[in-house]
Amino acid sequence: MMVAPDTHPFSPAGRARALERLGSETFDLLVIGGGITGAGVARSAALRGWSVALVEKADFASGTSSRSSKIVHGGLRYLEYGHFLLVRESARERAVLKRIAPHLVHPLPFLYPVFEGESLIKVRAGLTVFDFLADVNDDEKHEKLTPNEVRKRLPGLRDPLKGGVGYLEYITDDARLTMENALSAALHGAAVANWTRLVELGLKDGRVTGATVEDGLTGTRTDVGAHVVVNATGSWAESVLESSGLPVRHPLIPSKGIHILLSAERLPITGATFLTASSGKRGLAMRRGSYVYVGTTDDEYSGSLDTPRATRSDVGEVLGMVQDCFPDQGLEYEDVLATWAGIRPLVEERGKTTRDTSREDEAWEEPDGLITVVGGKLTTYRRMAIRVLEIAQESLGRPPSDADELDATVPLPGWTRGADDPEAVEEETAAAFRARGVSAATAARIAWLYGSQTDVLLEFGDEDPGWLEPLGPGVPALRGEVRLAVDQEMAMTLADFMDRRAALLLFSDDHGLAGAEAAADIMAQRLGWNSDRRSEELEQYRLLAIEHGLPAK
Ligand SMILES: Cc1cc2nc3c(=O)[nH]c(=O)nc-3n(C[C@H](O)[C@H](O)[C@H](O)COP(=O)(O)OP(=O)(O)OC[C@H]3O[C@@H](n4cnc5c(N)ncnc54)[C@H](O)[C@@H]3O)c2cc1C
Repeated sequence: MMVAPDTHPFSPAGRARALERLGSETFDLLVIGGGITGAGVARSAALRGWSVALVEKADFASGTSSRSSKIVHGGLRYLEYGHFLLVRESARERAVLKRIAPHLVHPLPFLYPVFEGESLIKVRAGLTVFDFLADVNDDEKHEKLTPNEVRKRLPGLRDPLKGGVGYLEYITDDARLTMENALSAALHGAAVANWTRLVELGLKDGRVTGATVEDGLTGTRTDVGAHVVVNATGSWAESVLESSGLPVRHPLIPSKGIHILLSAERLPITGATFLTASSGKRGLAMRRGSYVYVGTTDDEYSGSLDTPRATRSDVGEVLGMVQDCFPDQGLEYEDVLATWAGIRPLVEERGKTTRDTSREDEAWEEPDGLITVVGGKLTTYRRMAIRVLEIAQESLGRPPSDADELDATVPLPGWTRGADDPEAVEEETAAAFRARGVSAATAARIAWLYGSQTDVLLEFGDEDPGWLEPLGPGVPALRGEVRLAVDQEMAMTLADFMDRRAALLLFSDDHGLAGAEAAADIMAQRLGWNSDRRSEELEQYRLLAIEHGLPAK
């Protein structure tokens, strides 16, 4: 729905109002960190009627939550380690997300090819248990495939094949999922601001009573009062505690995982597939639009948490696995269109490698008034939020609330339709854009990414058809997306828009650079940037694009 820009909580004026509130209210909960974990905690708390503030030092999802494999998954992999509860929880949360955000949880048929030397019986037995634990609908239960059926679905896959199994998982846009959770929190009363960092925690008589935060865009510092503070800073959680001289009950071992992006013309995969190279190296390839992305590595990491990047050798490792699995495809380094790296905040388990370490989360209160939450995954963020709120509830001396399950039923703000047939809605939406002269590729991308927010884009187009024009030659994005991002999605920098609102940094042939100037012009006009700021934003984005391309030799 089109709203006056100044009244929207994620407009520039809405952000300024949130910052003012930080200095004038005492909150039940102050959440530090706007990744999926913090955004989810803020949303669940706001839906319970708590007074909530959420601050993020850079942009929402600028940490791991925009650099994942982007799969909302039932947790099949956890079966290998006997983590049955994790499978059940993941599967339940997958069902919740399909209900509250069908526009961000798209079905993706998975294929599990089984090669000579591997056990097809074991894989099928695993999937039978998975179907049971995940309470999978009859029409989504796994199917057994012959070698020929696998070859038909995955032409060019290496031999000797024994057969395979097909089943269903879901793909998301992790950055938009995170932003929409933060927005949902704000629409339910939370004071939410990106580009606002925790400077230090406030401590009184051994209890955390709030924090000092700094608006990174103006340098203004504010003391925020809160009964409970939640440290949801993912990989940074340990350094947040250490910088305040606080103990770290569960140390983290950061582990880096990378992905590479290829054109689907070069690797024609239609859904997603597990890959196993003849060396035994494993990975996953996933189709998104006209691209296929492949990951991932899992290596202990000690570099900068702010700028993890794929190295040439990381790319070589993943590309080598794809080359081995598709030997006739002739894939080369130059086929790699984009790369990204994310850091898993794994909770250390003595004697285990990063790959074997559990993906379960931990939440604890220490000292009084500070809850730290780490680990977990995108798919189960709502359950993590509930665990945090249970601890907070006790700390606040509150009785359990009837509103507990609202976070499982109230849709995210980007979905205002029924959840019966989201795929049909997506097709109708794409058709509406095509009918207004938008190219088929752009219409499909928009319908996939924005859900009901496409209504706003159409209204912009009715007001002035210029908003439905492409951002630049060959760029599958519209000028109106920039306006939407600034007016209703708190995009404050060019990268906020290009990377985390419109997904052009990772999912376009040239990182959307051909549209960067036009996007910077629209942002400059709406945010009042002078020409120096505009040039700086462009310069920083060009650098970011280089860092997310093929690393140099
Ligand atoms: C390679 C890879 C693939 C993955 N694939 C999947 C997948 O397919 N499916 C799935 O379910 N899960 C997946 N995961 C796991 C999932 O992505 C993470 O568990 C999740 O994104 C972590 O979210 P978070 O909010 O805890 O951390 P983050 O997203 O890192 O958020 C922490 C935030 O805190 C902010 N912050 C730090 N310090 C401060 C401060 N001082 N003040 C204010 N803010 C601060 C940071 O800027 C950051 O935005 C994957 C992880 C990796 C690494």
